[in-house]
Amino acid sequence: MADCVFCRIAQGEIPANKVYEDQSVICFLDANPASKGHTLVVTKSHYENFTTVPKDLLSHAIQVAQMVSQACLAQLGATGVNVVTNVGRAAGQSVMHFHLHVIPRYEDDGLGQLFTETLSLPSDQLLLLADSIRQGM
Ligand SMILES: [Zn+2]
Repeated sequence: MADCVFCRIAQGEIPANKVYEDQSVICFLDANPASKGHTLVVTKSHYENFTTVPKDLLSHAIQVAQMVSQACLAQLGATGVNVVTNVGRAAGQSVMHFHLHVIPRYEDDGLGQLFTETLSLPSDQLLLLADSIRQGM
């Protein structure tokens, strides 16, 4: 897609701080990093988000994210990693081209926990939610 920034990076039209590349994925530093070494794992083919990526390609992307995570732990002094993907604007997806965030975490990095607020739902509602998700699979 000509107007997609990640497609343009994958095609070499826009420079990026590349970490890894193979036939189907490219990894580069996030231009707006949450932490030192924040890396994006991006499929070279355009898929809108996590829910639309073919399973084999998704499997490969998560394996590459594991490799990047291991490298961040080994090389950057990170003591933790968050691996995150956002689906849709409600979840904070800003580029509508599938990507995994590998966010190295450091002691006292100030980023906090991903989920600071939790819901307290009645058990009947939990049963309905689980049933709805089951019916969608
Ligand atoms: Zn794209």
